[in-house]
Amino acid sequence: MPHMKPIVQKGEPVLRNIAEPVDPEHISSPEIQQVLADMREALESQEDGVALAAPQIGISLRIFIIAPKVFEEGTGKEPEHLVYINPEVIKRSRKKSEMTEGCLSVRPWYGAVVRSEKARVRALDEHGNRFEYGGSDLLAQIFQHEIDHLDGILFIDKATHLEELPQEKEARDTAKKDLQDRMKTN
Ligand code: ZN
Repeated sequence: MPHMKPIVQKGEPVLRNIAEPVDPEHISSPEIQQVLADMREALESQEDGVALAAPQIGISLRIFIIAPKVFEEGTGKEPEHLVYINPEVIKRSRKKSEMTEGCLSVRPWYGAVVRSEKARVRALDEHGNRFEYGGSDLLAQIFQHEIDHLDGILFIDKATHLEELPQEKEARDTAKKDLQDRMKTN
């Protein structure tokens, strides 16, 4: 693959589209497997990235992925369920809290978004197998943020106290520290 897919930034129409579902029969095709590989590569290139939705590399399909470090650093557990195809939230806690949030496509903005503290998702994995998976705190936040991407919604649509951090480096450090702080409370 000659070039890494750049991460699309706010203002690109693809971020505002309702993404198309993936035909389950098509998941094992070279095209979809390439999309997954491109997404992984793009996410790995972002030091502070915890998850990525397909529209963020310009592909309007209902797929998001999670970085393995979310599991490794947060829980000490083996990474599980990193690929979510045609995901749906099937249950979310009524209890909500304000979570600090940023987005690889809305740099360098941060804000506070009210999200359900727990969420359960149904999706297909990279082999086309259906699964359900529940998470709280950071994982629940990721589920809600990424599925919003698939519906053309960005966190800035919902955020309060939006703040533009002066430097990208500072943004990265803050995101990382915030991630670590949140993981400590798990
Ligand atoms: Zn995002």
